[in-house]
Amino acid sequence: MTAPVKQHLIDPEICIRCYTCEMTCPIGAIQHDDTNVVVDPETCNSCMDCIPVCPTGSIDEWRVVTTPYSLDEQYGWDELPPQEDLGEASAGGIEALDEAMAALLAEAHAGAGGKSRAPASAAKPSVNLYTLGKPATAKVQGNYRLTDDPEHDVRHIILDFGALPMPVLEGQSIGIIPPGEDAEGNPHLPRLYSVSSPRDGERPGYNNVSLTVKREGGGLCSNFVCDLKPGDTVQVTGPFGATFLLPDDAQARLLMICTGTGSAPMRAFTMRRNRTVGGRSGGMVMFFGARTPESLPYFGPLKKVPSDLLEKHLVYSRVGEAKEYVQDRMMAEEERVAELLSDPRTHVYVCGLRGMEDGVERAFTSVAESMGQSWVALRDVMRDEGRYHVETY
Ligand code: NAP
Repeated sequence: MTAPVKQHLIDPEICIRCYTCEMTCPIGAIQHDDTNVVVDPETCNSCMDCIPVCPTGSIDEWRVVTTPYSLDEQYGWDELPPQEDLGEASAGGIEALDEAMAALLAEAHAGAGGKSRAPASAAKPSVNLYTLGKPATAKVQGNYRLTDDPEHDVRHIILDFGALPMPVLEGQSIGIIPPGEDAEGNPHLPRLYSVSSPRDGERPGYNNVSLTVKREGGGLCSNFVCDLKPGDTVQVTGPFGATFLLPDDAQARLLMICTGTGSAPMRAFTMRRNRTVGGRSGGMVMFFGARTPESLPYFGPLKKVPSDLLEKHLVYSRVGEAKEYVQDRMMAEEERVAELLSDPRTHVYVCGLRGMEDGVERAFTSVAESMGQSWVALRDVMRDEGRYHVETY
């Protein structure tokens, strides 16, 4: 019998096709086709460089196998195969492999990232209906500027899918394929944007979806999207994401921490709750960081959201003398955050700049200490229960 090996795989249901793992792998072991992102078992040396950069944890899948799954098999999957039963004979081998792998994985997971789970009561998401090879075509219904700061152009883009099904849940993303080709003559890869509208459409009952997109200097896709005009068409992939989802349980409490355009999914969550349970829900608390009120997306409409639906902590980094970040305000509101963390109904969502992760982790560590608890232990319980979600880029 061939000795069992632990094969590195990617969960095609959870992967959001951002290709960050592929770009990070130092030895070219990760590749993609029009549908899936896969790991070449011949090349992968389990160095774990790809683990912490994955925004969803879909990269963190392992199967003990006697014959590794081929690339062709992986390209054909809609979902991961279960661990096959290798019988008693290989059990010792599996345990030994687990110990070595567990040590490497623990190191890779030292940061805030990790393998998240969907909230227990979340609706089942549809994923990967439209791929690079078979994208959906959407028509632009609107493109509205959201910010007054001339240096900070953030747009609210509404895409209409007409008769094409596009079942997106709040917290999911879609990909936009920029037109044209890259330097090697290949079509551009899609860029991902979180959907900022609720599941029943930006306008209730319409088959449309909104995005929140910031124009980046020299950004190929963000400039394409920010310049779109009503009536233009765009090629769309997705939906993606199966864990950063809203609990359907109306009594769940939400603690949402975001920066800039990372507010997109929080808008979708807020609109969904507003349209369903309103102020009678378990409550939503938001820490939202931006440079100034003029550069905070949705500043005007957000101000009007009633506080019984959403408790807002708007935090500005470039107003006045001292810089304030979301993590500073969380610590200033230590008792409020501690009260939320101590409630098993609370779900935490962090979305925005990758750089915020460390600061937010430090803030949670300090709040947990004030409760006499270890943040890492609390976070891991929340993550296992589908109550802790991070999506940063
Ligand atoms: P931004 O305007 O550049 O920054 C927003 C705020 O975050 C600013 O006040 C900034 O302060 C502050 N900030 C900078 N470093 C920080 C840190 N280490 N900790 C805490 N706060 C920090 O943000 P943006 O350009 O909108 O970018 C948001 C990010 O979200 C992007 O990376 C985007 O890819 C990501 N994202 C977007 C979506 C989406 O669908 N749109 C979804 C998920 C993630 P200063 O600049 O004054 O230092």
